[in-house]
Amino acid sequence: MFANFLRPSNLSKKMMRVIFTIYLAVTCVITSLQFASEYLKTQDSIVNELKQLEETVLGPISTSLWQYDQNQIEVLVDGLIKMPIIAGVDILDQHGENLISSRSYPTGSTPLSVFNTKSDLNWELNGEEIFLGSVTLYSSSEVVLDRVLFGFALIAITAFIKLTILFWLFIWAFNRYLASPLKELMTQVDEVQASQNISKRINLTNIENNELRQLQEHMNDMLSSMERDRNRLLEDEQSKRDNLEHAVAQRTKELQVLNEKLKDLAARDSLTGVLNRGSFFETAQHLLILSQRQKSTASFVLMDLDHFKIVNDTYGHFIGDKVLIHFTKTIRNFLRKSDLFGRVGGEEFAIFLPDTDSDIAFKLAEKIRKVISDSTLEIDGIVVNYTVSLGIESSDPTDASIIELFKRADVKLYGAKDKGRDHVER
Ligand code: GH3
Ligand code: MG
Ligand code: MG
Repeated sequence: MFANFLRPSNLSKKMMRVIFTIYLAVTCVITSLQFASEYLKTQDSIVNELKQLEETVLGPISTSLWQYDQNQIEVLVDGLIKMPIIAGVDILDQHGENLISSRSYPTGSTPLSVFNTKSDLNWELNGEEIFLGSVTLYSSSEVVLDRVLFGFALIAITAFIKLTILFWLFIWAFNRYLASPLKELMTQVDEVQASQNISKRINLTNIENNELRQLQEHMNDMLSSMERDRNRLLEDEQSKRDNLEHAVAQRTKELQVLNEKLKDLAARDSLTGVLNRGSFFETAQHLLILSQRQKSTASFVLMDLDHFKIVNDTYGHFIGDKVLIHFTKTIRNFLRKSDLFGRVGGEEFAIFLPDTDSDIAFKLAEKIRKVISDSTLEIDGIVVNYTVSLGIESSDPTDASIIELFKRADVKLYGAKDKGRDHVER
């Protein structure tokens, strides 16, 4: 408890220690002063009493001295010594020689302080004063202390009671007006912190309009501003997230479009824009299976430009490319949406015609052959005529592979070439 008092851990105890120590010191100083003044006052009163006593005994002692009655003097001195305020008696003759010296305390235990009153002893004879000697009465600090002790004890007890009352009053007031509200404040701050809920506000019970209320208001202002900042941050974050989501959705859409374009580009021949060999056969294979399932006939038309090497050799590859582009553009006009058109070799093209029998396919092939044969292509003043040979093969119900159909159509194409080119063979 005392160690705790010396090294206090909380504010109230620390304040109590400071105030209590200062108050104790001040009380000690004041009490000491009161005691000193009481002591001096009592000593003065004892000196007066000694003087009065001296005056009373002056006559009898002078008489005894005049009469040389030593016994009488000793009886008088014994009587004086027995009185509580007398600590000693000295009687000197007219030459200053000690006649009697008596003390109430044993020799060797002298009191702390001794004080006295001294009077001359005279004898009046025929109107004349005869000096007989002197009498000195002593009193001591012990006599004074005996008298003041009660008063001093009263002062000390009063001081102690005042100190104790003040001490507990201070503890009570401090706890009531400062420590308890501070503790409540800390508890509420801890609650806000633990719950992570800064919408909560500090609300102290039993506080008056003082610094604590201001502290509460400041803390609540701080919480409000924290809440505003947090909400602003959350809104910013939300809007950033929305923007990001929007941007991601936008980018995903763009990527999907790009992907489609890339897929389309990968599936198409870069020169003519028609399906390339791979994607043509892949799609044609699906369509063939579909067509077989529906038990319908599909036809495969294989086309090869005649003497295209000569076209290239005569007009150059650039013109040759233009011829290929012209050919595909012309063919497209004859095709239905469901027909599949692709470039399967350098100057070799194929059409897959779902739901088309050999007769209809032949008619279409003839149209194509004739239109190409009749067309004249003019590039930079150069007139180019070219022809195409076509081989037709229609599917059997047993056909499962587009390659088989292609091979058979190729045989037919050879036949068309053999028959002098610019010809349709089926
Ligand atoms: P045939 O009537 O027997 O088919 O004779 P041909 O000359 O067309 O046949 P061949 O296979 O000998 O020649 C095909 C030519 O097609 C050879 C090649 O240079 C040309 N060729 C292939 N691809 C392209 C191309 O993309 N552009 C151009 N300009 N020429 C091409
Ligand atoms: Mg060829
Ligand atoms: Mg050819």
